[in-house]
Amino acid sequence: MSFASLGLMSALLDNLQQLGYQQPTAVQQQAIAPVLAGSDVLAAAQTGTGKTAAFTLPVLQKMLTEGSKVTANCVRTLVLVPTRELAEQVHESIVSYLQELPLRTAVAYGGVSINPQMMKMRRGVDILVATPGRLIDLYQHNAVRFHQLQVLVLDEADRMLDLGFADELNALFTLMPRKRQTLLFSATFSGPIRTLAGRLLDQPVRIDVTPKHSAAETVKQYLLVVDKKDKAELLLHLLNSRQWGQVLVFVRTRKGAEALSKKLLAAQVATDAIHGDKTQPARLRALQDFKDGRIQVLVATDVAARGLDIEQLLHVVNFDLPTVAQDYVHRVGRTGRAGLTGEAVSLVSADELDELIAIEELLGLNLQRFDEPGFYAEHRLPDTVVGVGRIKKPKKPKKNKAAGSGNIHLGDAFAPQPAPQVVQVRQMPRLAVHGRGKPKTHKPKAR
Ligand code: AMP
Repeated sequence: MSFASLGLMSALLDNLQQLGYQQPTAVQQQAIAPVLAGSDVLAAAQTGTGKTAAFTLPVLQKMLTEGSKVTANCVRTLVLVPTRELAEQVHESIVSYLQELPLRTAVAYGGVSINPQMMKMRRGVDILVATPGRLIDLYQHNAVRFHQLQVLVLDEADRMLDLGFADELNALFTLMPRKRQTLLFSATFSGPIRTLAGRLLDQPVRIDVTPKHSAAETVKQYLLVVDKKDKAELLLHLLNSRQWGQVLVFVRTRKGAEALSKKLLAAQVATDAIHGDKTQPARLRALQDFKDGRIQVLVATDVAARGLDIEQLLHVVNFDLPTVAQDYVHRVGRTGRAGLTGEAVSLVSADELDELIAIEELLGLNLQRFDEPGFYAEHRLPDTVVGVGRIKKPKKPKKNKAAGSGNIHLGDAFAPQPAPQVVQVRQMPRLAVHGRGKPKTHKPKAR
């Protein structure tokens, strides 16, 4: 399926081509046409599925082709998001899809001065991306009016409720015209989200692109991008710096298992290995030693590890990614058992791109990526997106030189951000954020 077959106009198709988007992802295939047709949409889609383009592209087209010119302080499309980071990210995407097309866009969130945002609203904006708290502040300052509102988008609605924005959202809904199109995107559908959807949406088209083969929800999964030669050092560093208890480490080959366990033993880490070259008694002994806590690290190949059930195992490390994607799910399933929270960390080097793509396709999501300080990979792992695979880095949008018709970019005034990346990065302790801005240690609630 192509973007053109979904009914998108040629100007937008040209911009997508420039960004290297070749085919629509599943959520884009299902959402774009109904949004263009004016339907409300209720979509279960996580970050990394291409959900932003799924609502942004048809909305941009509608703003370019339908409705009247925006007037002072008015807004025609409002995208509500839970955090300032997501606000910036969504706005960056909008700017990149628009390039030179004549729509006025803006982003507004709390924690920074409201005055530049109020000034930018004066001429009105076609598309405003905002966090609920700051939008209320703008409203209270008479800086924003909703009577021209055509489309309301709630992005990551579940996180907005988790972050305690229910009251702000309810207050905002009462200010908006009833006749409008509403799109609700959420990673999960809890009771409160279903209630919200029931109140806001009119006969919505339902879309569900949530993963069907996900590993246990209690397992936190992420990648550390690292050069192949540095993997053993990185593992030792993680064992020391994170104060992990027992760790099950998966490797692809028997030789690899032996080599790694030697290195760990040389560094005084109590380690044993189980793989196909070991006798059955030796394997059983290693497993018993691990269960009894006599060794800290058990290095295992996939075949040898089948059926292992170790209670209270908190950490699984994929030293290399498995060649069979389904094995990833088996490996990760060794932790987070019986309702315990586990962590599955994959050390991924650039040569493992194909394995990563296969795993992400199976899971139906892009795994979050991070760099560990001191282990920044020289060979970068190419970006990936579910449904598409490897992607080219989006080019930076060209600067709009045409006077008077430029996109407003409220965020520029106070928080320059790099271009959008493949995965949304959430904050994790002691980790540097991969690719997007400076690492931060504290993420205050956006208003
Ligand atoms: P999202 O799920 O909206 O956060 O998007 C994740 C990433 O996928 C972003 O960096 C987008 O630029 C990229 N992306 C979205 N749709 C496509 C597509 N059809 N082809 C290539 N990249 C895409």
